[in-house]
Amino acid sequence: MNAKERMAIDRQTCAELSPEIRSDNYDEVSLGFTVESVKTEALRCLNCKKPGCRQGCPINNDIPAFISLVAEGKFEEAYWKVRETSSLPAICSRVCPHENQCEGSCVRAKKGKAVAIGLIERFMSDWMVHHQKSLNVSCALPKGKKVAIVGSGPAGMTAAYHLAHAGYECTIYECLPVIGGMLKVGIPPFRLPRHILNAEFAALKDCGVKIIHDVVIGKDISLEQLKAEHGFDAVFIGVGAHSSRKLGVEGEDMAGVLHGIDYLRKVLSGNKVDIGQNVVVVGGGNVAIDCARVALREGSKNVFILYRRTIEEMPASNEEIHHLQQEGVKIEFLAAPVRVVGENGKMTGIECVKMELGPPDDSGRRRPVEIAGSNFVIAADCVIPAISQNVNHEVDAGQDIALTRWGTYIIDKTTFQTNVDWIFSAGDAVLGPQTVAKAVYQAKEAAESIVRYLEGRDLKEGRDVRDLDS
Ligand SMILES: Cc1cc2nc3c(=O)[nH]c(=O)nc-3n(C[C@H](O)[C@H](O)[C@H](O)COP(=O)(O)OP(=O)(O)OC[C@H]3O[C@@H](n4cnc5c(N)ncnc54)[C@H](O)[C@@H]3O)c2cc1C
Repeated sequence: MNAKERMAIDRQTCAELSPEIRSDNYDEVSLGFTVESVKTEALRCLNCKKPGCRQGCPINNDIPAFISLVAEGKFEEAYWKVRETSSLPAICSRVCPHENQCEGSCVRAKKGKAVAIGLIERFMSDWMVHHQKSLNVSCALPKGKKVAIVGSGPAGMTAAYHLAHAGYECTIYECLPVIGGMLKVGIPPFRLPRHILNAEFAALKDCGVKIIHDVVIGKDISLEQLKAEHGFDAVFIGVGAHSSRKLGVEGEDMAGVLHGIDYLRKVLSGNKVDIGQNVVVVGGGNVAIDCARVALREGSKNVFILYRRTIEEMPASNEEIHHLQQEGVKIEFLAAPVRVVGENGKMTGIECVKMELGPPDDSGRRRPVEIAGSNFVIAADCVIPAISQNVNHEVDAGQDIALTRWGTYIIDKTTFQTNVDWIFSAGDAVLGPQTVAKAVYQAKEAAESIVRYLEGRDLKEGRDVRDLDS
């Protein structure tokens, strides 16, 4: 098929559960491509000589190569092409902000609609799971050295996977009773079904990665003890960013204020959390949107999102914003919280102020500026601040690891080694709250450094590591 014929094909769509059907359950909203539509969509790829999509993908997946295999119906080969670079294709295909990454850099996006790279990747990964294909890769012979991994999120699991397959004995220490980090206790199943998450994670630990739950490193066992008493030769810190950032307004300590990360963790761990009928979520990113959609599913009737900029600046993906609005969540744009109001220590509402957009700030987005005297109150049973997270430093208690002014770990940008030579780190612990794809890429590179460290080789020689710190 020539380029002109490929250009004539419209972007394929896939079915979704209607808002009425999905409003009280956690079933996945998007139903994904069919065999026919995925092959048609794959034909839209122009197989560019210099593929922008690949550049836009934090993991550097060979996107044109896997898409052309999909076009030929070679789904299993296509899956293994992606696994050359990505440990978590089924997950990334669902949760990556594609419009800012691969699809945002697709040449077809310039004059129309990008190739649906995420949905194609999702199809072939799901095809593997549904056809019960093994996702495992063979392991090297044991090399007799051990690595401790702190945290079982995408960073920790990816590091363990690469190290275990290279022949190093890995033990993951996880403080929660479940593995997966924010994929399990943050992102809800209607965006990331648990059978898919479990299948992909099972394949990562197939080389005998040991997982020890309910242990807080830094409290129950120190980093130093891991090395001195437990015999680990290196440690990887993948603790993410789990400390909710406060709104910093009066009244935030009143009953009825529940931070987003805490709310999601409780609900997604199977607890019933009664937050009342009227809920205001503060923020414009993934966490805020997931909280609002979960609150609806848990029975709250009036759910508002308060966001201080406009829809154009919202960090969440277009698809999520669309689903959120379809489900009936209202977004109060250009408004920011001023104080939580209430009586006798129990909140009854949130006072807000209207904003307008001024000149761009350091992030390149226009800075919101208060409109004096425009204050108003929204009555609410619960406020969920979901504005960002910081790294929790329980893990490094007693260990002097250098930090940035934002409290993230300072690492060498090629090796992911901290100032302590046997400690490496990657993912949100290094970047602050970011994305799964970035955590996966960094953890793979950190694992490569740990292998070189354990083998006494040069950590930097011949490497060209991407800087994803933005
Ligand atoms: C609600 C929500 C929605 C999101 N949506 C998206 C999305 O759509 N797309 C996207 O790409 N990203 C999304 N993200 C971000 C993404 O989940 C993170 O960037 C990613 O999970 C970071 O991986 P990580 O392995 O670095 O950390 P985490 O996934 O946070 O895992 C860290 C793990 O370390 C454990 N841990 C922490 N401290 C200790 C300790 N002292 N001892 C032992 N264990 C410890 C934690 O319990 C956790 O399991 C979302 C995040 C949230 C919260």
